[in-house]
Amino acid sequence: MTLAEDVLARDPRAIARAISMVEDGDEGLRALSADLYGRTGRAYTVGLTGSPGVGKSTIANELVAAARAHERSVAVLAIDPTSPLSGGALLGDRLRLQVHATDPNVFIRSMASRGHLGGMALAAPEAIRVLDAAGHDLVIVETVGVGQAEVDVAAATDTTLVVVSPGWGDAVQVAKAGILEIADVFVVNKADREGAEVAARDLRQMLKMGPELPWTPPIVTTTATESAGIPELWDAIEAHRAYLESSGDMQRGRAARLLREVESLAIEGLRSRAARLLEDDPSLASDLTERRTDPYRTAAILEERISSRP
Ligand code: GDP
Repeated sequence: MTLAEDVLARDPRAIARAISMVEDGDEGLRALSADLYGRTGRAYTVGLTGSPGVGKSTIANELVAAARAHERSVAVLAIDPTSPLSGGALLGDRLRLQVHATDPNVFIRSMASRGHLGGMALAAPEAIRVLDAAGHDLVIVETVGVGQAEVDVAAATDTTLVVVSPGWGDAVQVAKAGILEIADVFVVNKADREGAEVAARDLRQMLKMGPELPWTPPIVTTTATESAGIPELWDAIEAHRAYLESSGDMQRGRAARLLREVESLAIEGLRSRAARLLEDDPSLASDLTERRTDPYRTAAILEERISSRP
């Protein structure tokens, strides 16, 4: 059996190996990706983002249980795009998810991007496709924080959940973090603590001030540690999915994301060729720094060489 066949047969070791290949930008990735691509597009993807400590992992764990109760197979990809070495450490954090360790319909994995061209923004969709090809009905992508790269990764899913907790901050902070726009569902977690209602009210207020949108993100209140509000959260995700399907936004969104991805892949390819050309011909740099030529001319020479030499 080839690695692709093993992934398609949902062999957890093969899936783990394929995701490691994505992390490392392994040479075999192109062939693997080509073999798997035709079998992707079936999984529903949910992104989970919010500041560290708001309860994302706890919620992910609860959503895994909810998915299993609905007889869906589920994969969780926990992503740290900022620190390339934290893969192992993150995995330790995921140990609490081990209640599902013996269930073949649950796959949990953390991921860093060590060598993938274009970093996590390009590694994440590739890893999601591995899990999709493996036949997981639901793929949950959890990011560790609210840095731009993380927000981008979490937003590149069908339904994006933005998690906040009481005392997390006022309306201005939410707007500043730029996460208001990407939320399909807001989760106010730690409802057992004081201030959850205020946080929900602030969010509601802020949504009212924003532009009228075809989908208004619902605000779901949860106490993840007690599994409270999880059925409501599940229903909110399903409602957003129904909206995406009936409006045609699901297909449009997926197509747009794929096109952005291939555009980025092409740009990354060109970028590394430009870097190689500059390395191979040091006179390009010296002509520039010694003012014998100018930046536009140098860029034009690079473009010419890139298009003439395959
Ligand atoms: P993450 O960093 O966003 O993934 O947050 P975690 O899921 O690791 O949770 C951070 C801490 O908050 C842990 O100690 C959790 O047990 C706790 N926690 C999560 N959900 C709740 C909740 O609903 N209420 C309370 N009081 N604590 C919670």
